[in-house]
Amino acid sequence: MKNIRNFCIIAHIDHGKSTLADRLLDVTNTISDREKQAQVLDDMDLERERGITIKSHAIQMDYMRDKEKYTLNLIDTPGHVDFSYEVSRSIAACEGALLIVDATQGIQAQTISNLYLAIENDLEIIPILNKIDLPNANPEDVKDQIVDLLGCDESEILAASGKTGEGVPEILEAIVERVPAPEGDPDAPLQALIFDSEYNSFRGIITYIRILNGEISKGDLVKFVNTEKEYQADEIGVLRLSQEPRKVLKTGDVGYIISGIKTSTEVKVGDTITHKANPCDSAIEGFEEVKPMVFAGVYPIDSEDYEDLRAAMEKLKLNDASLTFEPESSLALGFGFRCGFLGLLHMEIVQERLDREFDMNVITTVPNVSYIAHTKKGDEFEMHNPSDMPDPNALDFIEEPFIRAQIISKSEFVGPLMTLCMSKRGIMTNQQYLTSDRVELTYEMPLGEIVFDFYDKLKSISKGYASFDYFQIGFRPAKLVKLDILLNGEGVDALSTLIHFDNAQAFGRRMCEKLKELIPRQQFDIAIQGAIGAKIISRETVKAVRKDVTAKCYGGDITRKRKLLEKQKKGKKRMKQVGNVEVPQKAFLAVLKLD
Ligand code: GDP
Ligand code: MG
Repeated sequence: MKNIRNFCIIAHIDHGKSTLADRLLDVTNTISDREKQAQVLDDMDLERERGITIKSHAIQMDYMRDKEKYTLNLIDTPGHVDFSYEVSRSIAACEGALLIVDATQGIQAQTISNLYLAIENDLEIIPILNKIDLPNANPEDVKDQIVDLLGCDESEILAASGKTGEGVPEILEAIVERVPAPEGDPDAPLQALIFDSEYNSFRGIITYIRILNGEISKGDLVKFVNTEKEYQADEIGVLRLSQEPRKVLKTGDVGYIISGIKTSTEVKVGDTITHKANPCDSAIEGFEEVKPMVFAGVYPIDSEDYEDLRAAMEKLKLNDASLTFEPESSLALGFGFRCGFLGLLHMEIVQERLDREFDMNVITTVPNVSYIAHTKKGDEFEMHNPSDMPDPNALDFIEEPFIRAQIISKSEFVGPLMTLCMSKRGIMTNQQYLTSDRVELTYEMPLGEIVFDFYDKLKSISKGYASFDYFQIGFRPAKLVKLDILLNGEGVDALSTLIHFDNAQAFGRRMCEKLKELIPRQQFDIAIQGAIGAKIISRETVKAVRKDVTAKCYGGDITRKRKLLEKQKKGKKRMKQVGNVEVPQKAFLAVLKLD
């Protein structure tokens, strides 16, 4: 136990976490040349392309020092705010963290939010200035920022380059020197923390664990404390580049357990594993049921694909426990599913996986957050869909989820950023200069306002320089109304949104204008209206036109004529029939693109 070091790497996105992790594996000869890939830890295509580690993994390295062998377990953490609960559990499995800061970028929002999690868990922080090979690196300034942030001594900061490998041996030294060995009682009843799990189509669920107390042997009967389910530990082992089976895992170890579990929903990150016969007294603190916070309808473009879509969703769910879905139907879009996501990135990932792994073309409706409706009768329920909105006469009030947002930016952009946050109903709670030209702004704002276009706007206002991270701070009452869109008098349920009363008028007007641009002229006038209840608040008209695609063929060439008609028919496939109006797919996302 005294020669084990469990650590993670925390960093803002693109500051070099994956690159440095690969270097550590390199220097410790954990990967043979044959096994080398561009980025070993990111093994999903999608991850590699986005440069984000979506799912956390762990890997064990051997390190020799003064003729003594050390076992280093690197636990990888997902970098995005949507997965912050998973980050917190990975951090809870460690004693130390490498805090990486890009020497050209300085401290960013995610650096701070991840650091807070690490400090909460009492981790030893090793600050590392990365990318010092770059000519525009600014080591002195960034060092000052780190000293301010951590209250550490400048001499504690290591300088490195994941690219050239400079400073990497010193990092390994520091891990052994500074990160404490695991504590825990080897003779106590088993207490193991689940910090991640992964679906494997041959082996079922692989559960990643950190043993806090006691030990586990192959074949043991174990209990998952929070889910109260019992299993046999069919296989246990450690995580090298692949799983290496072992007979026993001891206090302080990081490893995996395979126990015949078939779906991800049975294994909950943060749960405690103990022995059935000799259980530990209590579960490990910090367990939470992750709840999706963003909801959207997902519909097949071709309604015949509904069953295929269901099969695809079920497969995705096998390895993504945080995805939820239930059937719903829309007058406009037919049969589909109401899906729950952790956040917007998670939603995008699911959409992309449906497309890539299952070849499913889907329409995703406007996302909304989870609201709580209180009725006059005193009932209370969650709303995941604008159509859940109770009758205004029965409704007492609605609560919406709030977040605390941290924004770090060059000071020259502060004015426009404040205007943006205000337009999103944000309330500033703190403003702090990190250096003379970098500011940290703290806002409280409704999650629902972030869901639309906040992030894109933040980036464009700040020319890409501002960074942003958030965490949830509970529900607050809000004056929300349901805005409906009518096409020729008929409500299009998939275009309804819940919106703050003060913004409804302007929003309805912009929606109608945008739809007017997107809905092609047809053989009759189309009235586009925005309505709150029975009250029409905006209106536009798409004028009729008769478009005859074969007109310019002068009757002559019949094959050409047929081709054109077929082409037109294909074009129509990407349209949805709403009453007598054909609505293009992109119109359903119009609301996301309002300027
Ligand atoms: P992550 O998002 O924190 O995992 O960051 P990555 O490891 O994917 O690195 C982001 C980008 O920075 C990639 O293009 C890397 O090649 C590059 N990069 C990472 N470390 C260094 C470094 O030390 N020096 C230089 N010049 N580039 C680096
Ligand atoms: Mg990465």
